[in-house]
Amino acid sequence: SLSEYQYKRVLLKISGEALMGNAEYGIDPDVVERMAIQVKQLHDEGIEVAVVVGGGNIFRGVAGSAKGMERAQADYMGMLATVMNALALQDAIERIDCPCRVMSGIQMNEVCEPYIRRRAMRSLEKGDVVIFAAGSGNPYFTTDTAAALRACEIGADCLLKATKVDGVYDMDPVKNEDAVRFDSISYHEVLVRGLQVMDSTATALCQDNHMPIIVLNIDGDDNIKRALAGEPVGTVVME
Ligand code: UDP
Repeated sequence: SLSEYQYKRVLLKISGEALMGNAEYGIDPDVVERMAIQVKQLHDEGIEVAVVVGGGNIFRGVAGSAKGMERAQADYMGMLATVMNALALQDAIERIDCPCRVMSGIQMNEVCEPYIRRRAMRSLEKGDVVIFAAGSGNPYFTTDTAAALRACEIGADCLLKATKVDGVYDMDPVKNEDAVRFDSISYHEVLVRGLQVMDSTATALCQDNHMPIIVLNIDGDDNIKRALAGEPVGTVVME
């Protein structure tokens, strides 16, 4: 069971939407600070923490292409948005005295390091938090898929998906008060039922590579730490 699972290295996916808090757009510094504190808590427990940040609080490729933009062009804008979020998060993490680097899937050497898998793994071993920016570096993907990809690449023990809800439900819990939360669910069931845990590409990549996904609420102060200690926080997606 997951309670006996040894989480030595985790990949935390933070959506852009989470970073905007109650605002309709942009970055809420209080939310970023709270996320930074949660990251540092894990770091101080000796857990190696890698982070993938989204960009939906600033720009989404699909939204751009719905308004007539060329999809790949819009996706590059989305990837650039994730870099802004990554820099905000790095700043907040460093301000609370936690070493942190940003590695981008699109090279921009004046701003942050390029993503080099072996260097990322070495940094994690040394105890630096590593934030992966610019998603996978490729259009037509999402940061969820990038999170699944990076988690597999760096040999993470699990992918933690921090969201606005406290797990996976059989229906949208915001629209249906009868919605029931799963403590655990299989990848297959997530895909067959079309549950919006992550997009299907990301879920399938995790399934193929036996990467457990823990879906939890970012709002609790120590939710992530509790989940990793094996407490029944959120929903676990696994075989
Ligand atoms: N994106 C991309 N390739 C990637 C990751 C992201 O093209 O590997 C683009 C895509 O346009 C996406 C945007 O970046 O809409 C922001 O990421 P996402 O929508 O996943 O952010 P989140 O929903 O987590 O805030």
